[in-house]
Amino acid sequence: MNPKIRYNFGAGPSTLPKILLEQAQAELLDWHGMGISILELGHRTPQFMQVMEEMEQDLRDLLSISAHYHVVFTSSPARGHFSMIPLNFLSKGKKGAYCVSGVWSAMAYQEASRLADVYVLARSEAPHHSTPSFEGAKALEDSAYFYFTSNETVDGNAFHQLPPVHDLPLVADMSSSLLTERVDVNDYALIFAGAQKNIAPAGLSIAIIHDDFLHRQPASVLPTVMDYRNLVAHRSLYATPPVFSCYFAGLMFKWVKAQGGVSALAKVNQRKAQKLYDFIDASDFYHAPVAKDSRSMVNCCFTLGSPDKDARFIEKALAWGLYGLKGHRLVGGLRASLYNSMPEAGVEALIDFMAEHQSVEAL
Ligand SMILES: *Cc1c(COP(=O)(O)O)cnc(C)c1O
Repeated sequence: MNPKIRYNFGAGPSTLPKILLEQAQAELLDWHGMGISILELGHRTPQFMQVMEEMEQDLRDLLSISAHYHVVFTSSPARGHFSMIPLNFLSKGKKGAYCVSGVWSAMAYQEASRLADVYVLARSEAPHHSTPSFEGAKALEDSAYFYFTSNETVDGNAFHQLPPVHDLPLVADMSSSLLTERVDVNDYALIFAGAQKNIAPAGLSIAIIHDDFLHRQPASVLPTVMDYRNLVAHRSLYATPPVFSCYFAGLMFKWVKAQGGVSALAKVNQRKAQKLYDFIDASDFYHAPVAKDSRSMVNCCFTLGSPDKDARFIEKALAWGLYGLKGHRLVGGLRASLYNSMPEAGVEALIDFMAEHQSVEAL
């Protein structure tokens, strides 16, 4: 039998606000009095195009995205952008500079190296317990961008400042951190994120692209669904967008606004993460391996020190209704994902359990 879950700490697909799931459920059979579901509505109908427009505007409001930027919604997985970025921006002798700071950026670099001329400008060594040092890092001539992963979902590290690579357009994978912390979009040439961590059910990714960056390169021949210029020109309606994920992202953006916007949620996220890390740091039973100045605010990695002890912890936590605490299979250990939709009470329940588990195991 499946356990009854109270709080879901899984990294993605991940917890969503119950109030939005209820709204989606209530509207599922009869969307806005039309008598049919949003899932059955053509994507070029005025009604659905209105959903897309409102969702784009709400995202623009939340991140103060200026008119110099295009916003693209696509059914590509986040990983699709690993290929699309080099294919779109590295034609004609251009090089891509990469930062390898964990599992996701390593994969992005590996994918880009299959397709284009790329190099590593900065790296932190596995097990990636911090973001890289940029000391002595020097960009090669003809570099078109610097690519990095703002928050490494698997390894639990994050950049809390912009990487110090002056003059290179920044391209960032924000799959697990978009809308959880303040960003100045103007610092970036391109931001992308898969929706399934913080925003919506799986099936959607979002790219925010500066117009100059988009048009800097001579047009090259690309598969149309991978060509950012084509997706921009068709305002995300070139191919059928993932309508349910788009609809849900629209609900989420309104929810984030109702919470007070990104800065209000960032404060709560900061507090949630701090509580958990403080508890771990104060105990000699749990250990958080990531260096303090590189710790992720949304993916907190920790361990009891051995795979056996961690496995026991996961099993016991489940009996308390705390789910999804197993670390990623590539790095092991434990991980609590504390995205926007994880209430503070969830973190408190986790800490209560951790204290209880520690006292029982120490007997
Ligand atoms: C989850 C995740 C991805 C991969 O997402 P897919 O949609 O499965 O390709 C890429 N980057 C980061 C930072 C992630 O957290």
